Amino acid sequence: MTTAPSPSRAEVIAPATIDASGLWEYAPAPESVRPAIKPRYGHYIGGTFVEPIEGKHFTSFNPATEEPVTEVAEGSAADVARAVEAAREALPAWSALPAIERGKYIFRIARRIQEMGRELAVAETMDGGKPIRESRDVDIPLAAQYFFYNAGWADKLPYAFAGRNPKPVGVCGQIIPWNFPLLMAAWKLAPALACGNTCVLKPAETTPLTALMLAEIFDEIELPAGVVNIVTGAGDTGEALVNQPGVDKIAFTGSTSVGKKIATALAGSSKKLTLELGGKSPNIIFEDASIDQAVEGIVQGIYFNQGHVCCAGSRVFVQEGIKDEVVSKLKRRMGQLRVGDPLDKNTDIGAINSEDQLATIDRYLECGMQGGSDFWQAPGEVPEQGHWCKPCLFENVQPSEVIAREEIFGPVLAVMTFRTPKEAIQRANNTPYGLAAGIWTDKGSKIFDTASKLKAGVVWLNTYNKFDAASPFGGFKESGFGREGGLHGLRAYTNLD
Ligand code: NAP
Ligand code: MG
Repeated sequence: MTTAPSPSRAEVIAPATIDASGLWEYAPAPESVRPAIKPRYGHYIGGTFVEPIEGKHFTSFNPATEEPVTEVAEGSAADVARAVEAAREALPAWSALPAIERGKYIFRIARRIQEMGRELAVAETMDGGKPIRESRDVDIPLAAQYFFYNAGWADKLPYAFAGRNPKPVGVCGQIIPWNFPLLMAAWKLAPALACGNTCVLKPAETTPLTALMLAEIFDEIELPAGVVNIVTGAGDTGEALVNQPGVDKIAFTGSTSVGKKIATALAGSSKKLTLELGGKSPNIIFEDASIDQAVEGIVQGIYFNQGHVCCAGSRVFVQEGIKDEVVSKLKRRMGQLRVGDPLDKNTDIGAINSEDQLATIDRYLECGMQGGSDFWQAPGEVPEQGHWCKPCLFENVQPSEVIAREEIFGPVLAVMTFRTPKEAIQRANNTPYGLAAGIWTDKGSKIFDTASKLKAGVVWLNTYNKFDAASPFGGFKESGFGREGGLHGLRAYTNLD
């Protein structure tokens, strides 16, 4: 073994080494499983890793240590064209495969994700900064679940769309964000494959690693070449995929601003489009709610994954009579959240995904402080290295303030009040977004009445941020269109007679 020339958690914990197989070996961390991370990855095209045509690579960093994690290929339009060509070539055989055989491949992917669960969780946490508890208990098991669920549908599509003769859409270009890297890849790939499509996936710039490890799984289970191709890069690579001829459908998850650009680029073309965009979701606490549970729900709603969650409950509406009790219990609970090393199993709040995202959050904090509402942030230290934001909230926020209207995508909560259920609904719906909402009350009738009047794709009742592969997810208004998950998720990847 030789001492590696470059990076890792190395200096922070102990020297990193490269083993005989050319893989990074990481020193024991609080989570001691060592993922097999290569120092450098190419694109995964036509069933093999290939060098980028222009020969350029860029580094993906660990946002908790600011150390490099790996180098990945920087995709050009020519790389995207090559990947789309591979997907086109693979399409006739893959779509003609007996559906039960297609399903078997997808089941194998699901099982392998399960088997590699701990390694994938560590890799996800290193590349993106989320707490290991979340990647281990939420992201990776759910990614496997989406493949299992959709594998089961592969040979049952004629029942799913009875009398409609479902056919694949063709080559799907899929662009995903950095907040749930492997899970978003699963949301996109699993239904597309089940329906007989082939794919070109573009992971986010800051978190490409687990998609590339997924490519290694495709290799292992001998998924036919070209059925899934993965091209890494940044926004320009995504744009090239959107504009590439030979793509039949674009599925995009990301910000509303980029979603609008994509919709404009595709206007008038024959490409199909689904968009999963941003949110500013309301979490409504009625005075008859179980307050302790609601406080947990608020915490889960906004501080899960550092608030890098499209459906985060970032606007809390508390009924006036219980506001002081809720806020004081919430602050106490926020003070108990542990911010720090994402690989530590006791960590609640990990690193902010990138320096840019931290700068965005800081701009919003500044803006909120100037807006006149009361700012509170949990006490305590954060590590010197890395990008961090301790959980915080603004009280007495006016609905017109920027921090109450715009998606911050960080651990920042806006607390507002309401007097009557009617006012809660009116305030909750007063947003250009419509992705999710939460309701906390003991009264069943109030739950149904409120839920039916909220303009949100998902409404959680006495819980928050719960996901399931059988349940459709997606937005209204500027939160996008189309659904992922469940039967509805398959619809986006089929043409029906
Ligand atoms: P983003 O900047 O919109 O990027 C999303 C993806 O699109 C990335 O892979 C990005 O590449 C790529 N991209 C950037 N510019 C592009 C262009 N002009 N054409 C095509 N692709 C382009 O969003 P993000 O900051 O990664 O993610 C956060 C956003 O995602 C939040 O707004 C959040 O609400 C939303 N989100 C929504 C859902 C949902 O289901 N509705 C789920 C998760 C996240 P690079 O990043 O590599 O440049
Ligand atoms: Mg990274």
